[in-house]
Order: sequence, then C-alpha cells, then structure tokens
Amino acid sequence: MSWEPSDVDIEWTEAVLDTLEPGKSWVEGEMTFLCTGEKELSLVSRTERSEEPAQRVGIVLQHLGWNYDDTQTSIIPDDPLEAMRTMQEVAQAWTCYACEGVSLTDCDLDKAQWVNDGNHTAFTEEGLQEFPRWVVRVSCIGCGEELNMSPMDYSLLAGEDIFYTWVTPLGDTLHALDRQTLIEMADLGDYSETSIVGTIWEGHHVPPHMQGTYCSVTRSSEEE
Ligand SMILES: [Zn+2]
Repeated sequence: MSWEPSDVDIEWTEAVLDTLEPGKSWVEGEMTFLCTGEKELSLVSRTERSEEPAQRVGIVLQHLGWNYDDTQTSIIPDDPLEAMRTMQEVAQAWTCYACEGVSLTDCDLDKAQWVNDGNHTAFTEEGLQEFPRWVVRVSCIGCGEELNMSPMDYSLLAGEDIFYTWVTPLGDTLHALDRQTLIEMADLGDYSETSIVGTIWEGHHVPPHMQGTYCSVTRSSEEE
C-alpha cells in the first residue's frame, strides 16, 4: 500500500491516541481497536470492507512510533446477518477484565442491572442531539467485579430472550412478549399480568429497547 498520511491524518490520530490508555478501546468506523500497553494498539475486529482503512491506521501508527498488532483480528463479514453471527461468536469468548479467568457467558446475565448514565450529545444528520446513555452492569461470578458494558455488547452476549427481559430497580421482571405469544394471548382473551411499556415504569426510566413493547410482568414478591 503506497498511501501516505497527511499532517491532518497524523494530528487527528495523535489526538485520539492521547485519550487512550491500556485497556481502553477505540471504535472508528467499522474497526475496533484496543490499547494493549504503552504505545501499543491492537486491531480487535474489522469488517471485510474496512481492510484499507485499517491498513491506513497502521501506517499512521508507524509514523507515531506505536506498535500495531493486526495479527489477532476478527474479520466481520459485510453481510449483516453473517456479521451478527460472527460478533456473537466473538462475544462468547469475552472474559472478565479483572480476573480474566471467568467467561462473561457464565455470569448471571439475566440479573443484569440497566443503569441510566445521563445524556450524551452526538452529531446526527439533524445536527447535535442528546441521547440517554445506558450501561448494563453485570457482576462477575468469579471476583465480584461490577462489569459495565454497552447495550450492544450485552445483547451479543445475552441473546435476544435475556436482552428483552428487564429486571426493574424494584426487582420486578418485565419480559417483552413476541408476536406468537401475543396472538395466543389475544385468542384466549387473557391479558392478566401484562402491560404496555412506555418511557417510565413506576417512577423509573425504561431502557430504550423495552419502550413500546408489550410485556409480561412478574412482581418480585411473586418469585420464589
Ligand atoms: Zn472477574
């Protein structure tokens, strides 16, 4: 590759690298990098089509005297369905960063706590907009560390069924009902212990993916 970075490319990348420290990741386009040590960056994953952008990052890093490792990279297919499958496979291998021995899939993912972390601003096609930021908190069964993950990472780990189950701050369990269940319910005419869910549930903010769903409601006092 004969591409040469411009001064702007180098300055821009340098500014990003300044914000990194070992253990911190950086997502750029369809590439995910991880800072693995002092002036060391690993390309964790990229899509098939971001081969060239990834090579360019490597070239800029060389200019800046960083080590760049792209030998362990997972390549995510461009096809969205295949990509989802690959990302789920990658997620199955994640371990707790604190004790490193425990696989995250072994933790009690169904007891995750959804935490509303305030608003953040992002550039969109409509200009600057505010979005609520949510993190999903799971305790490591090995060391007890509270692991914060993005809703996206959590959905890859937990799968759809657990993702659409929300344990509220009061300990009640809301589970979004699928279409087939709703059809059966309507035919039976039995709507007990169910509810349409909006933005607030009993005084608490509802995670975005649960808003506008029709849920079964299990009160904490009803569980054994
Ligand atoms: Zn742990």
